[in-house]
Amino acid sequence: MTQKLFWADPYQTECAATVTEINGNKVKLNQTIFFAFSGGQESDQGTIGGIKVLEAVKQGDKENIIDIEYELEKEPDFNVGDEVEVKIDEKRREKLRKLHSAAHIVYYFVIEKLGKLKIIGSHIAAEKARIDFVYDKPLNDVLPDIQERVNKFLLENHALIIRDDEQKPDLRWWTCEEWKMPCGGTHPKSTGEIGNLELQRKNIGSGKERIEIRLAS
Ligand SMILES: [Zn+2]
Repeated sequence: MTQKLFWADPYQTECAATVTEINGNKVKLNQTIFFAFSGGQESDQGTIGGIKVLEAVKQGDKENIIDIEYELEKEPDFNVGDEVEVKIDEKRREKLRKLHSAAHIVYYFVIEKLGKLKIIGSHIAAEKARIDFVYDKPLNDVLPDIQERVNKFLLENHALIIRDDEQKPDLRWWTCEEWKMPCGGTHPKSTGEIGNLELQRKNIGSGKERIEIRLAS
């Protein structure tokens, strides 16, 4: 079982960990700050014991992440039981953190404006996040208003609080004011950290609309 330090402190970008398993290029650790792709949020990038991580894979499911396996660029020169340094790309994590909460907030402003829509996809990358909806009209008309409302809300600096589930140990709840959704991602402490967003509509086929979310710098 890998202890998930990225939940305890999503701002931590370095930690020491003990190697618990090595299988060729693949390693497991007793604890980690290095997020593995989950809930649409991309993996971190970084190094373990100074070796570049090519891929981080979560084992288990949303409510019970048993382990995270890291595929390294080469076979490690360290052994099981050794202590290694884990480092992640700080700037990338910062963007992922901001865009993940941003995506949740945009979603709530979209349904406030248009009613409850079916979500058919979402993805959080460092350069942009996206949400795909079932909707049969172009969002062009409503998007400027949604962007303005979202940015005003972000500026008001609402707290973003992640709560543990009372029953399921790996299930976590993202909350902001009256909003609440299950989420295992990494998030900032408040909306003020996110800054302004730029929203863009993409047509991804008949009856489907995509909103792309970028951090305005
Ligand atoms: Zn989420």
